[in-house]
Amino acid sequence: MSGALSTTPALGSRYAREFPELAVPWRAQEFPDARLLVLNEPLAAELGWDAAALRDGDGAGVLVGAGLPDAAEPVAQAYAGHQFGAYSPRLGDGRALLLGEVADANGHLRDIHLKGSGPTPFARGGDGLAATGPMLREYIVSEAMHALGVPTTRALAVTATGEDVYRESVLPGAVLTRVASSHLRVGTFQYAAAMGDDDLVRRLVAHALNRHYPDRAAADNPSLALLEAVIDAQAALIAQWMLVGFVHGVMNTDNMTISGETIDYGPCAFMDAFDPASVYSSIDLQGRYAFGRQPLIAEWNLARFAETLLLTLDDDEDRAVELAQEALGRFRGAYNAAWFGGMLRKLGLPASAGAGATEDPVTTALLTDLIGLLHVGRVDYTGFFRQLSAAARGDQAPAREMFSDPDPFDLWAPRWLEHGPDADVMDAVNPVYIPRNHLVEEALDAATGGDLSPVERLVDAVTSPYVQRPGFERYAEPAPEAFGPYRTFCGT
Ligand code: AMP
Ligand code: MG
Repeated sequence: MSGALSTTPALGSRYAREFPELAVPWRAQEFPDARLLVLNEPLAAELGWDAAALRDGDGAGVLVGAGLPDAAEPVAQAYAGHQFGAYSPRLGDGRALLLGEVADANGHLRDIHLKGSGPTPFARGGDGLAATGPMLREYIVSEAMHALGVPTTRALAVTATGEDVYRESVLPGAVLTRVASSHLRVGTFQYAAAMGDDDLVRRLVAHALNRHYPDRAAADNPSLALLEAVIDAQAALIAQWMLVGFVHGVMNTDNMTISGETIDYGPCAFMDAFDPASVYSSIDLQGRYAFGRQPLIAEWNLARFAETLLLTLDDDEDRAVELAQEALGRFRGAYNAAWFGGMLRKLGLPASAGAGATEDPVTTALLTDLIGLLHVGRVDYTGFFRQLSAAARGDQAPAREMFSDPDPFDLWAPRWLEHGPDADVMDAVNPVYIPRNHLVEEALDAATGGDLSPVERLVDAVTSPYVQRPGFERYAEPAPEAFGPYRTFCGT
């Protein structure tokens, strides 16, 4: 197996070397019968990995952390986190490993990471494993998010381990090979700050700025520069979630990145009928992470991030708090501007229609009223915006028919049409295909039973989300009534 990486680039160990305090050297469990299930060839090419080599017998080993080059220094990363609001001082990669970093075709460092690769010292009694279904779910949904233009970690491959995983039932095990611009989380900073070592936090700040926000690396106050950059990146990210109807499901601080990429697809889902109270996770009993609460929760998580930087923001404690609060004050404005701008594009309206964006009373009312009627009508969110471009082209029927009571739509539509919406702009931002919950479940069930073709076809549909294609009609349809209320379970 040792020759398997000869066709793949070397793995760097920058994180492992720079932050021994935040990493435990570890190796993946051995899976002699590992077998590749899905490989993301475009992503492999981006990384400079040879897809053919990854597909042959030894390649599958590499994708589960076997046969690494001698220089590789895989580590389990330490992090803390607020889970559903309660602080856990020591979480960390319980079933994951950072294999190392590679420079991609654009010269950007990308983490190569495994999920489901066996228990680590952070496993806290867990088995360190993952079942095929949840790993394929992450593959499908993260690649769909990428195709929708939402910043996200990527999925390079899912490999069957050949071993059983014991959950409510016995399931086939799998490893996800994940690619991320980094795995630095708010929880990483929480862990570092809790060690009470200012110098460690300062080094982590410098590392994060270098890696993700190099243009701010020379700032006079690096901690403030990083805080502001992360606030801006997260505001933009959450606005994109809200625009595509994505519910993350478990926005704990350990699942919020410093890079601004979406991470950890567990009990996530795309909303069908528009409802801000949409919750899909079976464990989110209070609706803490409901669709409409995501911006507020992001702001809460960012306040936890700011706290980790207090000692490095300013020597004067009061001044540090003041700086943190000022920075946090950016979030709402940044979020609102990103959401409002995105909504204007979804409605095919020029940015000038929202000049002064959130203050413009006419467009604000247009958006607020639309949200209200989608909510009252429980209209399919993704389908509605896509059908609406027909209305911009002169045919209101497809959108109108989505309302059981079309009267409010009939009052709203002329107000919108008055602005001269551009249907082509709408089609470029309103997807036809998203990973709808019933399709994801259907594909995962088939895969668990050994048939991967529904997963492959769904990935095909959702990775070209904007272009309607013959033969994919059912991928654009909302769930049949019989599918019932949807629940997702944490991908453990
Ligand atoms: P998550 O909900 O996937 O973000 O995971 C939260 C924490 O639980 C992380 O520290 C994970 O590494 C850990 N974890 C989740 N599932 C397992 C498992 N099967 N074995 C060990 N650790 C796990
Ligand atoms: Mg996590």
